[in-house]
Amino acid sequence: MEFRDLKQQYKVLKDDIDKNIAKVISDASFISGIYVEELENQLAEYVGVKHCISCANGTDAISICLMALEIGPGDAVFVPDFTFFSTAECPAAAGAVPFFVDVKEDTFNIDPIALERTIRKVVRETDYKPKAVIAVDLFGQPAEYEYIRRICNQYNMYLIEDGAQGFGGSIISDCNVIKRACSFGDISTTSFFPAKPLGCYGDGGAIFTDDDEIADLIRSLSVHGKSTESKYDNIRIGMNSRLDTIQAAVLLVKYKAFREYELEDVNNVAMWYTNELKDTGIETPYVNKGYYSAWAQYTIKTPCSKDRELLQKYLKEQGIPTMIYYNKALRNQKAFENILEIQIENSVTESLCGRVLSLPIHPYMSRSDVKMVSDLIKCRIG
Ligand SMILES: *Cc1c(COP(=O)(O)O)cnc(C)c1O
Repeated sequence: MEFRDLKQQYKVLKDDIDKNIAKVISDASFISGIYVEELENQLAEYVGVKHCISCANGTDAISICLMALEIGPGDAVFVPDFTFFSTAECPAAAGAVPFFVDVKEDTFNIDPIALERTIRKVVRETDYKPKAVIAVDLFGQPAEYEYIRRICNQYNMYLIEDGAQGFGGSIISDCNVIKRACSFGDISTTSFFPAKPLGCYGDGGAIFTDDDEIADLIRSLSVHGKSTESKYDNIRIGMNSRLDTIQAAVLLVKYKAFREYELEDVNNVAMWYTNELKDTGIETPYVNKGYYSAWAQYTIKTPCSKDRELLQKYLKEQGIPTMIYYNKALRNQKAFENILEIQIENSVTESLCGRVLSLPIHPYMSRSDVKMVSDLIKCRIG
């Protein structure tokens, strides 16, 4: 069994993908061009924002955001303690200080109450200026943006959405309007790394915003700080971060399948797991009311870390791959050991790191595969 079965997906989409790739090569149009433009237009429309600017990967996407918002030395950027490294790596690389916020036990996402507590502590105990929150749509579920937005407004901070795992997720508002992931930040980002909900065949990423000026700035920053007139008129320091045309060509095919059935299918797989694993002593992932997940991961919690170790070993023996996302709080990564400015105890993150286990999930997983994995888990835990 595959953890995320990209081979199966390729079998289904092969004809269209091969055709698109061949076209890019025969046109010898490898950088920019119509596929990139078409993809950006389609994704902006789907997400419901004015601008989508593609780039080389999800990490660059966050870095470009921070450059556009002029976040750097002296600034405090609040990030969840339980996420992939990039979320905190980018602000640190920009010279700002990431402050690590505890997450919620049930959704794995940044805890708004802990966020307020951490902001107040930073204001009280340091000279850093609270500048931005980077909220993450962890494992596919959007963070609690209404609440987080209120906090950002109160402290006059930017809200950045790291939607690397969240593309396709959404929140239904009180008046029944669907707001999609990558539309919640002042600027939002995503990644097309192959294993993400919408993945390409290499590295890729995108940035989303409703702000015309910021969009222009991002287009400039991602191509060597070019002016709107010419690539060779460089008016600011930027970087070289473009989405390859071949990747855009692949993504156009994959996005169509994603939108037409994959997103719905992966939600069914998650539902089957949740039903199968009911009342087993295993905690299944919780999705907030009115929220829709893109299911980048299906992550269960075992009662303790010993249980997890035994379960993972047992499943491996049975040919079932599992992953631990994440087994270390970000603030405990060696890379950050010299930049921790305040004492914080993120007890929820600590506990999760010892108990989480992500199971195989992807849109092409069959009901019988879900049953098989679930039965093995039940037989081990029960
Ligand atoms: C994957 C990921 C990124 C980085 O994306 P890349 O395309 O691999 O650079 C950033 N944030 C989160 C939460 C991720 O999962």
